[in-house]
This record gives sequence, C-alpha cells and structure tokens, in this order.
Amino acid sequence: MKHNNHESVELPCEFTHASRRDFLQKSILGTAGLGLGMMASPSSAQADARDPDSELVFRTEEPDVTHTVDVLVVGGGTAGTIAAIQAARAGAKTLLVERGAQLGGTLTTGGVSFPGLFDAWGRQIIAGIGWELVKESVELDGGSLPDFSQVPARHWQNQVQVNPFVYAMLAEDKCTEAGVEIAYYEFPQTIKRTSEGWQVDCAGFGTKRHVFCKQIVDCTGGAEVVGMMNLPRLREKETQPGSMLFSFNPHNPGRGRGAPLSPAGGRVHYVHGADSSNSRTVTAANLTGRKNALDFIRQNPERRILHMQPEASFRENYRIQGETLIAVDDYRSGGVFDDAVCYAVYPVDLHTRTGVVPEPLENGIIPTIPLRALIPKNSRNIMVAGRCVSSDRLANSGLRVQAPCMAMGQAAGATATLAAKSGKTPLDVPLDDIHSLLNAHDAIVPGF
Ligand SMILES: Cc1cc2nc3c(=O)[nH]c(=O)nc-3n(C[C@H](O)[C@H](O)[C@H](O)COP(=O)(O)OP(=O)(O)OC[C@H]3O[C@@H](n4cnc5c(N)ncnc54)[C@H](O)[C@@H]3O)c2cc1C
Repeated sequence: MKHNNHESVELPCEFTHASRRDFLQKSILGTAGLGLGMMASPSSAQADARDPDSELVFRTEEPDVTHTVDVLVVGGGTAGTIAAIQAARAGAKTLLVERGAQLGGTLTTGGVSFPGLFDAWGRQIIAGIGWELVKESVELDGGSLPDFSQVPARHWQNQVQVNPFVYAMLAEDKCTEAGVEIAYYEFPQTIKRTSEGWQVDCAGFGTKRHVFCKQIVDCTGGAEVVGMMNLPRLREKETQPGSMLFSFNPHNPGRGRGAPLSPAGGRVHYVHGADSSNSRTVTAANLTGRKNALDFIRQNPERRILHMQPEASFRENYRIQGETLIAVDDYRSGGVFDDAVCYAVYPVDLHTRTGVVPEPLENGIIPTIPLRALIPKNSRNIMVAGRCVSSDRLANSGLRVQAPCMAMGQAAGATATLAAKSGKTPLDVPLDDIHSLLNAHDAIVPGF
C-alpha cells in the first residue's frame, strides 16, 4: 500500500508475517480465481464467497484501516494504559494497541491486583495518573487505602488492594475520556521508518491496520517492538518463573491480600520457564500453568477451584539495553540520576526455582529511574515503559513492580508527546519540559 507523504525504508524486522500472508493470499487466489471472478460487485468483496466447483468457502480480506496519530502505545497493561492516558491528556492523538481483551495487563488479566509501592518511609513517592486510577478504583469499590504515613513491618502491607474488574473498566473509561483510541486483539506485524516517524502495520482478526505515527511507546512487558526493530535487548539464560493464579475461595476482589494470594485458600503456582515473548511461548505457559493446577486438584479432591486467571503472568523476559542501565548498586544506593523522571521502591525481589527471599532496601533509600533507561540505545522516536526498563537483573527484580511501571508509563507518555509536538527524538526533549508536564499532571518528579 502506497502513501505519498510517507517514504518508507524497510527496517530489518525480527518477525514479520508478511511473507506468509502473501503466500496464503496467492494460494487462495490461485485455487479460487474462478470463484472470486464470479463475485457480482466490489461491494460483495467483504462477504463470504462460495466456489461452486470446489465447495470450499473463502473469506475474503476485510478492508485495510489506516490511522495517523502522534503517539502509538503498544501494550495496554500496567504501564501502557498510563502512557496512553498521559499522551492523550497532553494533547497527542494517541492509539493504544493491545493484544488482549482488556486494559491493565498483569494487574487485571494476570490477577496481580495489589500494586506496590506508592510510598516509602512514611510518604507518598508515586502519584499521577496511575495513582488516580488505583485510588478511584478502590473508592468506587468501597475498599480502603493504606495509610502511607505509617511505615509497615512488611513491605507488602502497603500494597493497595484493587478490584481488577473495576480497574479495567475505569482504565477504559479514562482512556476514552482522554481521547485515546483503543484497538484490542491487535499487535504489530511489521514496522518501517518513515520521514515523520513510523509506519506500523498491525493485525487482528478481520483487521489490517496501517498506523502512521511520530512516536512509539513500547509497553509490551518484554519490549517486543524494540525486538522487532533489532535494537539490543538483554536476557539471561535463566529467568524468574511466571505464575498461574487461582483460588479455592469465592473470589473477593479488592479485599485481603488479593484473593488468589490470600492465605485462606489462594494458590500461586510457579510456571518455570514462562516466557511472554510470543503466542507460542505464552500458549506453553498457559498450558503448563493449567496442567499444574489440574494435577493439584487431582491430588486434593476435597478442594474446589472457584477462581482462575485466564492467563499466566510473567515476571521476566527481555529488558532493553538503554541509553543508560540501572545497576543494582544504583538501585540499592538510591542515588538520584541527573535525568530522573520518577521514583521506584521495592525490595530486591528475585524469584528462583525454590522461591524468593526479598532483600529490603536500607531505611530511607528511594531509588530513581532515569529517562535514558526508557530509551533504547541508538534509537530514534521510540521509548519503553514497564518491566522491560534498562536495568540489570537484580535491579529489575525491584523496578518491575506496578507503581514504578505506572510512573514510567506516565513519564514515557509525556516525553513521547513533547517529542511528537516538537519533531524531536525523545533523547533531545529538554528535561525541564518533561518535568513540568509531569508535574502539571500530578506526577511526583525527583528533585522537582
Ligand atoms: C505472579 C506475579 C506477582 C507479582 N507480584 C507483584 C506485587 O506483589 N506487587 C507489584 O506491584 N507487582 C508485582 N508483580 C510485578 C508486576 O505485576 C509486573 O511486573 C508489572 O505489572 C508489569 O507491567 P508492564 O506494563 O511492564 O507489563 P504488563 O502489565 O504485563 O502489560 C503488558 C501488556 O502488553 C500486551 N502485549 C504484549 N505483547 C504485545 C504485542 N506484541 N502487541 C500488543 N500488546 C501486547 C499484554 O497483553 C499486556 O496487556 C508481580 C508479577 C507477577 C507475575
């Protein structure tokens, strides 16, 4: 498909399904030319066509959708939802492409509905759009918020119990209100550089969408878009296990320590080797997670499963190699980066085959996240937010939790918007402008 304003240079892509699609189209046309030739008018091209000779039923291609936006956010999870709302509220025309059926990602679909940590050492350190959603979800659901002026004995006691169903609805409502367009069941297939930014061709069932955008924010968890662009990503041979969450108690969302994890009957089964990279690895994780649960109830016939998440959840796969990398020493020391855009607090929390022993940060330490850790090295017009932040593995085990993911999402959404408006790449956007925009949208910016 040709567009006059957009000169395209094909980037080397890690995966593109174009050749397979071409093959399928050619095969269909090759065997079905007769049947298609018999179709009465162009308007019937969207209907099913029956070949009288072969008795095969063909479904012809749906029309392509073309979309021009300032900011494309890929992945509507913990970070991506916030990135999209921030971009749209700051005036960017924003499209949010999500492969699943709802917003929230690991917080909703994964069942980890107890985001942490918005506070440290007796004060709130992360606010802004993520906090707005969490707080309003709790209020709408009649739940209660922790008292951040109290330093709890255990870090998780200040995680917020959120009803994930309310959160998913509210996230959608806030996106719509801000003007974010949402495309569910879609994912990028090919990406090309254009004179103004990117052409990202997305696929969904019955949909082919050509997106022309100035900036991309990759919030897929494992930096899938960055991988498609062949920009460097980091991953160790062994990664933390994922989990399948289910419960033997009636689900009581937003209460207790998150129903599936509550001591009274909740189960979190590790899924070793769980990898969120693609549909094959996610399928494998779901199969393993459900098989483990099935084995468990076969061995415990007195137990009844009353709640189960539809998908496994993932702690780790790829992180980006960014313009800078947060090392665990940076994280543990709490040094403020020159280009810090938000805080992040959590113990170093590396899960292994045998479990996890969280290593709390020393009293008073509040790590920060620099803008350059959200920008893939040597890239232009792309950022990330979420657990794929540029960091070593141990630092990442603390940075990956939900409140910092939301704060990163807001910082990336703000920066991408400023970049799109000024025709700059994110690295060249003045830090003061980013800080001012974040501050205007109620985010807490280190040192601002
Ligand atoms: C079992 C478990 C327990 C945890 N416990 C805690 C806890 O107690 N407290 C806490 O704060 N954090 C916890 N975490 C960590 C935290 O939940 C995650 O690290 C965080 O939610 C990740 O956010 P994200 O935005 O990076 O990714 P996600 O929230 O996973 O969002 C990624 C989104 O991108 C979509 N996507 C992926 N690929 C594509 C694609 N190619 N195209 C379109 N869309 C795509 C996905 O469908 C998803 O919606 C836990 C995690 C796990 C797995």
